[in-house]
Amino acid sequence: MPHVMMSRKKCTGCHMCELACSAYHEGAYRPSVARLHSDCNPTTAEVKSHTCLQTACAKCQDACPNDAIVTKRITVKPHGFFDSKEKVGESVEGFVLVVDEEKCNNCGDCYEACPYDVIHEHPDRTVAFKCDLCDGDPQCIAFCQNKYVYAMDLKVDKKDKELAAV
Ligand code: SF4
Ligand code: SF4
Repeated sequence: MPHVMMSRKKCTGCHMCELACSAYHEGAYRPSVARLHSDCNPTTAEVKSHTCLQTACAKCQDACPNDAIVTKRITVKPHGFFDSKEKVGESVEGFVLVVDEEKCNNCGDCYEACPYDVIHEHPDRTVAFKCDLCDGDPQCIAFCQNKYVYAMDLKVDKKDKELAAV
């Protein structure tokens, strides 16, 4: 799956990605409902990045007793710059894991299973929510535009190529 990555070395902890994410999905600048997080220690400036690895991980999908996390085909065509752009190209076909809200009963099994702490109960709706790559134009990449940073990157993993061949 194409998935977004945050460079712990480059990220300055400005939280622009979280603002862009929440604005796109929730219509508000509300980092608490962003689908990725830059966890920056104010004393040491050490950054812990929290982003979803999609089908390269899929632990939430495996854990869900209701088959509520589904694999969806997607074309990812990001605006903005990212390190692997030359390798990835202008667009990439792949898969993303999305929550089917009709099937999700908020049991929480996926919250426990996620190793990166990026799937949670939505604070306003009693369903799980996670990164869906913004319908192919990840806003975290589009808005991480400090040219000295470009801390957001797009990766394509082997699992995605296997799924594409099915
Ligand atoms: S909270 Fe929803 S998506 Fe997560 S495991 Fe339970 S039913 Fe599945
Ligand atoms: S939400 Fe968590 S468990 Fe699910 S694919 Fe992403 S990183 Fe893995």
